[in-house]
Amino acid sequence: MLGKLEMIVGPMRSNKTAELLRRIEIRKQYAKQDVMLLKPSDDTKAEAGLVESRNRNGCGKMEAVEFRSADPWSVLPVLAATEKKIGKRVECVAIDEGQFVQDLFLFTKRLLEGGYDVMVSGLELDFRGLPFGEMLDLSWLVRTYSGNITELVAYCSCGAKALYPQRLIEGKPAQYDSPIIMAGDFYEPRCDVHFILPGRPH
Ligand SMILES: [Zn+2]
Repeated sequence: MLGKLEMIVGPMRSNKTAELLRRIEIRKQYAKQDVMLLKPSDDTKAEAGLVESRNRNGCGKMEAVEFRSADPWSVLPVLAATEKKIGKRVECVAIDEGQFVQDLFLFTKRLLEGGYDVMVSGLELDFRGLPFGEMLDLSWLVRTYSGNITELVAYCSCGAKALYPQRLIEGKPAQYDSPIIMAGDFYEPRCDVHFILPGRPH
């Protein structure tokens, strides 16, 4: 049987991770399912392994499998070993910060075809307002394999719905040509009117 895909999307500060953790808890507690939470990491040397994941919003902590964002495939042996250890299949794989995961489309597709339910939370747009990683591509998988998309809302300081992650560097809007992933940057959810992107070509 094919798995279903639940997508949790929205800008920064829309509590995507909290929603993902809430759904994992429900599956564990009420549906008695085993859920594996995956967390992409920038660490290029780290092998896929268990970490304790603390939610920034204080909704408790949860065990996660941390893996190199460039190689989600390294999770498959960990998944197989977990299933061997617990003596049954893991029902659901949850992926946080999906926008950072390379091969996200293919990796998710492979899990769905393998009968796993998949939950992915992440940003659809980067600080330039352009598609971030392969998050937007996942909507094809929702339509094809069934599932749903939950859009969480964040608000701009003016009260309008925030559409974009405004990157600020030392309090000023970041230039269009700054790197997509950058250490020490800061974001604010902004609406269409208050989103500022100096140097944008279009
Ligand atoms: Zn605004």
